[in-house]
Amino acid sequence: MSEAFGPDLPQKREVVTAIPGPKSQELAQRRKTAVSAALGAAVPIYAERAGGGVIVDVDGNSFIDLGAGIAVVNVGNSAPLVVEGIDEQAHKLIHTCFMVAGYEPYIEVCEKLNEITPGDHHKKSALFNSGAEAVENAVKVARAFTKRPAVIVFEHAYHGRTNLTMTMTGKNMPYKHSFGPFAPEIYRVPASYPLRDGLDGQVAFRKAIQKVEFEIGAENVAAVMIEPIQGEGGFIVPAPGFLPALQQWCTDNGAIFIADEVQTGFCRTGEWFACDHEGVVPDVITTAKGIAGGMPLAAVTGRAEIMDSVHVGGLGGTYGGNPVACAAAMGSIATMEQLDLPQRAREIGALMMHKLAALAEQFDVIAEIRGRGAMVAIEFAKPGTLEPLPDLPKALAARCAQEGVVILTAGTYGNIIRLLPPLVISDELLADGLDVLAAALAAEVGA
Ligand SMILES: *Cc1c(COP(=O)(O)O)cnc(C)c1O
Repeated sequence: MSEAFGPDLPQKREVVTAIPGPKSQELAQRRKTAVSAALGAAVPIYAERAGGGVIVDVDGNSFIDLGAGIAVVNVGNSAPLVVEGIDEQAHKLIHTCFMVAGYEPYIEVCEKLNEITPGDHHKKSALFNSGAEAVENAVKVARAFTKRPAVIVFEHAYHGRTNLTMTMTGKNMPYKHSFGPFAPEIYRVPASYPLRDGLDGQVAFRKAIQKVEFEIGAENVAAVMIEPIQGEGGFIVPAPGFLPALQQWCTDNGAIFIADEVQTGFCRTGEWFACDHEGVVPDVITTAKGIAGGMPLAAVTGRAEIMDSVHVGGLGGTYGGNPVACAAAMGSIATMEQLDLPQRAREIGALMMHKLAALAEQFDVIAEIRGRGAMVAIEFAKPGTLEPLPDLPKALAARCAQEGVVILTAGTYGNIIRLLPPLVISDELLADGLDVLAAALAAEVGA
């Protein structure tokens, strides 16, 4: 599929300097002086080009990308149709503000989202700049429609870094610590986490919903918001039946069921959206990350009557649905259709699961391999227990970076490696990346 990715980069892993190389070290020095120390970095390198399954750094090292910029460049970096869309649009019109003067690309993206998101009911969309902004606006819409205050979220959730969305996020360090006070009327209930709670979907649902009914009151609930597979939480796939039961409860109780598909959306899990796996049709869905091939864009898509319940002027923003970002989204979605990326995500998932299952046999620190499609995680725990091993993923990521592979960590306890390669990565590159991870694990815990 060489026509699938942009920069004409050799698809190989090649480390030609120490990591970080001299130019990356120089940039690290400048960063230290100029950039707030509050920003972390998963790998100590500075990228110059990327495409297909590789990132090339300023020193000429070629890394296998198993993170896709956190599930963003699903179609690959600088994918041809994305670049074309950006280029054409940038020459015509970069900005008017949609609330000042409208433009076709915004409407086009909304039409497309209404078509491809779960359910064939009448839907409408509104566009924003980031996942957090989409989540905030989904909450606004749900409160306006229901005229109720409470929002239900789950343990291990991640919904963003703004005041409302960090309140909705479950993990203190680094997302919430020292940033309070938090927003009111956000209530956290247990998630379905089969490895750790051992509950089937129905029992996990009853446990969560009992808390809602007795501690919050069903009639106070505007929305239940959930990631159908938790992302930062560590790719926690809820037990079968959990999501459909939640959705049914919302329908029965006049609450809005919001699926936060910011990380799971756009072919990542082997379907267009993770809700599709169980035929769950959310009232409202939030999307961002994979939507526009790396350009900042986000969306709230929902039942027309819910999306229209807000007064005119109640939603918006200066940049939301920027024309160039919209053109990138059309290029990104067209790429997903042309290359059948849901199918490719399933193939990538099968390959990852096959290789990682063998690893799990070999290493007793692996508590579970889980995920869907090209969204796969490894959870580490002390052998024979569920006690998290939070230092291991960090050590593995550091070792992998030295060998030319970018991997990301995750989890409330930090004990998880998450793999989400671009969906245009080759089998060879993916297999090589996983071999490097296996060798890192052997070196770290002893083969
Ligand atoms: C990343 C993420 C967000 C926040 O998106 P930003 O674009 O970083 O604001 C919200 N929800 C989920 C599920 C995410 O993974």
